[in-house]
Amino acid sequence: TRREGFSTIPNVKWEDVGGLVSLRTEFQLHIVLRIKHPELYKNMNLDTGFLLYGPPGCGKTLIAKAVANEAGANFIHIKGPELLTKYVGESELAVRTIFNKARTCAPCIIFFDEVDALTTKRGKEGGWVVERLLNQLLIELDGADSRRGVYVIGATNRREVMDPAILRPGRLGKLLKISLPGPDDRHSILKTLARGKPIDNDDDLLTIAHKKECENLSGADLAALMDGASMVALEENIYEPSTDALEEKIISDLASLHKNPWTIK
Ligand code: ATP
Repeated sequence: TRREGFSTIPNVKWEDVGGLVSLRTEFQLHIVLRIKHPELYKNMNLDTGFLLYGPPGCGKTLIAKAVANEAGANFIHIKGPELLTKYVGESELAVRTIFNKARTCAPCIIFFDEVDALTTKRGKEGGWVVERLLNQLLIELDGADSRRGVYVIGATNRREVMDPAILRPGRLGKLLKISLPGPDDRHSILKTLARGKPIDNDDDLLTIAHKKECENLSGADLAALMDGASMVALEENIYEPSTDALEEKIISDLASLHKNPWTIK
């Protein structure tokens, strides 16, 4: 099990992330280069807080880790809801501790997964516990000066329920949308996922990426398909599986795939 709040440089590399090219550019500019060449950013007043929003399984956690790896920054992974349940009565202290820790190991990225749990509109769900937690979070985010070298990335599938107070400039002020991959991104993701697996025919992957059946699949769905297909290849002792093996597997798996709620509008 992962130790909550434990900081370390993640081992996810850029090449483990498929697609998401424009997001990558944004992070490169706003975090990676800034950490590597602080002198270039001296008099610029750029956000150090980001909100990644979009459907589940599209690589929010993955890209955040890759950014930290690329920047050589420490990474603190916090699950929003756990802050509320694991530290009952002490979640404000937990927030302070997280930021203190990040400062001592800067450059550091704090990743708040399911950040909406901490920031549902005040007075709505959650009540006073969430309200106090949110206030503490705002205090920490506002202390930008003492936050030097500390970047905060929040991730959510439910941006609409979030308190707008946290999305102001200077807080999680830079909003970055992440969407379900289109055919080209699916191809790129499949290529990424196929590395080291007994499936590596690029033409095949291209064909699959453009299949109608693959519309609306997230990166996580594609990863599940790829795992299934490589298991089949291994079981059947196929060292150079044909497209057909993968395709067949994908088509059959698609039927049983957990429906992505984002596709049901
Ligand atoms: P959630 O909102 O459910 O936390 P998420 O957007 O953070 O989802 P990740 O945890 O980053 O999604 O992705 C889950 C898995 O799906 C990854 O570990 C990876 O195997 C695969 N995956 C998703 N997106 C990509 C991508 N763009 N490139 C490569 N793999 C991907």
